[in-house]
Amino acid sequence: MPIYEYRCNQCKKEFSLLFLNLKEVSKAQCKYCSSKDLKRLISSFSVHQTEEARLANFDTSKPRGDDFYKDSRNIGLWAKKRMREMGVDLGPKMDEIVERGRTGKILEDYEK
Ligand SMILES: [Zn+2]
Repeated sequence: MPIYEYRCNQCKKEFSLLFLNLKEVSKAQCKYCSSKDLKRLISSFSVHQTEEARLANFDTSKPRGDDFYKDSRNIGLWAKKRMREMGVDLGPKMDEIVERGRTGKILEDYEK
């Protein structure tokens, strides 16, 4: 169930709406004045974190499920974090290694 945040162009108030399904989204209207003239805001849930923040939140000791590996960004990120934890500074080579991680060869040489 998505929650979207809106600003009403009529009364300028901001509010969030919970939708039971995506069809409801097109019927969104202002909680306060019922206007349908809304601007959707980027939800705080979906704001893209900076890579640094993502790295900081990453716990490489947790088991990673299949979903994790389906997201190639995670693989690259995980590789970077892992490198850092191991105190490996590869400089420009890092991108190459991350790229290898993304293409499926996940740090075989560095996991030992
Ligand atoms: Zn309004």
